[in-house]
Amino acid sequence: MIIAGPCSVEGENFIEIAKFVKQQGATHLRGGLFKPRSSPHRFNGLGVEGLEFVVEAKRVTGLPFVSEAMSPKQIEVLYDYVDIFQIGTRNQTASELLREFGRQDKPVILKRGMATTIEEFVMYADYIICEGNENVILCERGIRTFENYTRNTFDLSCIPAVKQLCDLPIIADPSHAVGRRDLVVPVAKGAMSAGADGLLIEVHDNPEMALTDSAQSITFEQFEELMTWLKSSGH
Ligand code: PEP
Ligand code: MN
Repeated sequence: MIIAGPCSVEGENFIEIAKFVKQQGATHLRGGLFKPRSSPHRFNGLGVEGLEFVVEAKRVTGLPFVSEAMSPKQIEVLYDYVDIFQIGTRNQTASELLREFGRQDKPVILKRGMATTIEEFVMYADYIICEGNENVILCERGIRTFENYTRNTFDLSCIPAVKQLCDLPIIADPSHAVGRRDLVVPVAKGAMSAGADGLLIEVHDNPEMALTDSAQSITFEQFEELMTWLKSSGH
């Protein structure tokens, strides 16, 4: 499972990015419409206005689409367009929201909270499962530590540890973990080597100009390098 695309759906370029990642072998397309930003005054995503680009990108590539919903209302609005819902780090411990995702008939990616231990992470997934939705994919995306060379600290051990603790698949998001594009590909390789069931990667046609998460969005060339490695290493 290789989920790739920009942090946010920004406009027409979403279709170009979608075509490129598909051509490289991505299995899923990502792009945020509702963005959980640190400030309400920053770009908060195109919301429903961005759906026209999603419809077109899905039509052209045929790829299933992954996007975050932060409330029951957003689940409703995105339902017809999204194939896998993403639950963001900032909402990972919102148990009532998790229960709401548990009542949906679409798979969900549960991102690890910034201060959630591995055992807590696995337990929180049960909020979704116990409502009836067993299609939960865990995602290690880095945790908060004292380290500030990187945006977060990628916890590689989470991947084999989750495999010991439960039967759920776990994917890695090196983009939000490291926060800088020069480290995304090596960390992605490490995650796959440690047994991750897939990757979630932010890719942009012009990363410097990306409206959100510019610093960690990788270029088309970097994505191609990663996909070439994945194929040649048998992943
Ligand atoms: C994202 O995937 O763009 C995102 C906001 O992720 P996280 O919740 O891991 O910060
Ligand atoms: Mn992002």
